[in-house]
Amino acid sequence: MTFPPIRPELAGIAPYGAPQLDVPVQLNVNENPYGPSAAAIADIATSVAEAAVTLNRYPDREFTELRTGLAAYLSRDTSTPVLPEQIWAANGSNEVMLQLLQAFGGPGRTALSFAPTYSMYPEYARDTHTTWVAGTREQDFSLDLDTARALIEEVRPSVVLLPSPNNPTGTALDPAVIDALCEVIGESGILVVDEAYGEFRRQGVPSALDALPRNRNLVVTRTMSKAFAGAGLRLGYLAADPAICDAIRVVRLPYHLSATTQAVALAALRHADELLGNVASLREERDATVTWLRDQGFTVADTDANYALFGMFEDRHAVWQGLLDRGVLIRETGPDGWLRVSIGTPAEMRSFRHALLDVVKTSA
Ligand code: PMP
Repeated sequence: MTFPPIRPELAGIAPYGAPQLDVPVQLNVNENPYGPSAAAIADIATSVAEAAVTLNRYPDREFTELRTGLAAYLSRDTSTPVLPEQIWAANGSNEVMLQLLQAFGGPGRTALSFAPTYSMYPEYARDTHTTWVAGTREQDFSLDLDTARALIEEVRPSVVLLPSPNNPTGTALDPAVIDALCEVIGESGILVVDEAYGEFRRQGVPSALDALPRNRNLVVTRTMSKAFAGAGLRLGYLAADPAICDAIRVVRLPYHLSATTQAVALAALRHADELLGNVASLREERDATVTWLRDQGFTVADTDANYALFGMFEDRHAVWQGLLDRGVLIRETGPDGWLRVSIGTPAEMRSFRHALLDVVKTSA
């Protein structure tokens, strides 16, 4: 036995995470490139100072005020208002989903998604001793309803994880699929629609939140890390039937949301319009980037998110490295031959375009 005496299935595994490199143009982890205004920063600072007065006490374990604020925020995006008792939150939506697997997965149970998809999903399964099954997506990365239905009937998963838009492809889920999959999963499982990038979806497309009143087994997760421009805040949340929130309470660590996290998240919600103010221009920049890439002859997956998956490259690592050498960091992820670029400011995207043309020209 080698030291440390780690679980054998974890031995030698590299921790998950994209390289964090200090380069001028960072387009690798789908952050919002725009930081908060001076007014938002001042409100956040005041709120933290107020929370600090009682830091000798544990925070509100039920984060009641924050749940109320998040419910009001989500209610803007759905036809039926979301209630505070339908909200759960944690330190990033990664933690929310780990808690979902802790409560609804486990030994003898199965979690299912469709590849290529978010690479943390199998890690939640591994860490909770849940069996992991990955079906496949179509050539264009969409989900075929009949294929999905057949696999669910065969595997009978306790948890189905479906991001919309999907990461790393950007593919949106057809809203009609949600009701159909909730029905086939039935009450022996839950469907988690991961809307980490939901606010970037095309206008006119409903959020999965609209399907909540019809489906007790539906969970919709969101995060403040992406459109909300709060990746450093670490606040993710979900909306679901209150019984699902109660089940998570059993597995959550006590006081998991610090007093400062709650204070900062509430301040961020007060500045929601401003923090989300660049979503429309990021969507435009995304569509322009896709058009430009296609005009250059690249293949690009249709995207409803703040990133684009493009290729195909015989040696994608060489292209990634070439961009990095020119000060542009993107992500080497997705199926072989593809690369993913996050959408930054117009100036950052200009740097990306110039660097990419230069790399391709140099290696031709
Ligand atoms: N879901 C998807 C699809 C993601 O891409 C990410 C982050 N990359 C997350 C969830 C988790 O984000 P966070 O923990 O910052 O909320």
